[in-house]
Amino acid sequence: MPIDREAARAATPGCRGQVFLDSAGSSLPTAATTAAVIDHLRREAAVGGYRAATERAEDLARLPQAVAALLGVPERTIALTDSATRAWTQFVGSLDFAPGDRILIAGNEYASNAIALLAAARRQGAVVEVVPGGPHGPVDVATFEAMLDDRVRLVSLVHVPTNSGAVAHVGPVVAAAHRAGAMVILDACQSVGQVALPAGLWGVDALSATGRKWLRAPRGTGFLYVREGLVDTLEPPGADLRAGVWETPTRYRLVPDARRFEQWEHDVAGRLGLLNAVTELLELGTEAVADEVRQRAARLRAALSEIDHLTLHDHGSDLSGIVTFTHASLPAVAVKEHLLGNDVTVSVSYASSTLLDMNARGLDAVVRASPHYFVSDADLDRAVELLATLR
Ligand SMILES: *Cc1c(COP(=O)(O)O)cnc(C)c1O
Repeated sequence: MPIDREAARAATPGCRGQVFLDSAGSSLPTAATTAAVIDHLRREAAVGGYRAATERAEDLARLPQAVAALLGVPERTIALTDSATRAWTQFVGSLDFAPGDRILIAGNEYASNAIALLAAARRQGAVVEVVPGGPHGPVDVATFEAMLDDRVRLVSLVHVPTNSGAVAHVGPVVAAAHRAGAMVILDACQSVGQVALPAGLWGVDALSATGRKWLRAPRGTGFLYVREGLVDTLEPPGADLRAGVWETPTRYRLVPDARRFEQWEHDVAGRLGLLNAVTELLELGTEAVADEVRQRAARLRAALSEIDHLTLHDHGSDLSGIVTFTHASLPAVAVKEHLLGNDVTVSVSYASSTLLDMNARGLDAVVRASPHYFVSDADLDRAVELLATLR
């Protein structure tokens, strides 16, 4: 069923009186998601956090089920985290690299992932290498295959980067990596909630995502998927009494599922908000949302391409809901401020977030507009008009 945009807007108070084009940064929740969070905070204030959480035990138990349903994977492969970065570093931190081990990243790699890998490489003597891009995306598969050998332990792939709408082709990369015995972690932070993921998730070994972006959930929420068969073999860094059981004075045992990647302390209200947001997405349908977001972004891109003083920066055969551009004479931040002054919210993506790609393209910053399915035609027209008249 197509998305009922009027109903979606009515359910989203933040849509009123402004044009919101920053779902790649931190999206607008529905009123019901906000209420789930605030109601729980009030209950914690009334009876204390432990009793309040116990009262919601059934709902909290439904959250990993809902996330598993969203990804089409078993519940025991899901760990709840407080961010995508935490999910990612919990997985990668559980891999022991030996001197000479190789880690391959693509040109669209995200800064936090790169920093974590460079730190792991420095401590453990592994090397991080960049796979060249190809005409069809961030990884040129033939070159990638030629780079693979039995020293490659990990391949890090970003599904949709933070600075462009381009969707990476994951399947061929995973197949080649697995043939060479390497693991693949997919950063799906900018795709979950706006791009429908295929059943089986291409066989990736791990996947990370955040709540606040396209899922429209509260900040401080995220999750990790670790493939069945791998999940019970890894020991995450900083395992606590959620991850393990202290059995004898000298021994502990890790729990036998992805909860070993979780931390005991967490924001319960935020998780109830995430549950509401994921449930809403499942009700709308990921395909319907994906179609709508693509259509919103395509409409915006087409209109912006008509404006002479703007240059679009999304390249690729498969473009999603992130639209990036620069102005011929104004810095990206000035464009953002001008829009904000007119109640249009976008963000700026800086070179330091995706250094390799931005350096390769000679860009220091781009304006990023990321319309979700609740953005109306009138909203898009308003943003385009403001940009057209901003000389
Ligand atoms: C935002 C982002 C992240 C990090 O998400 P957090 O929840 O802030 O940790 C990771 N990868 C990409 C591509 C992102 O855009």
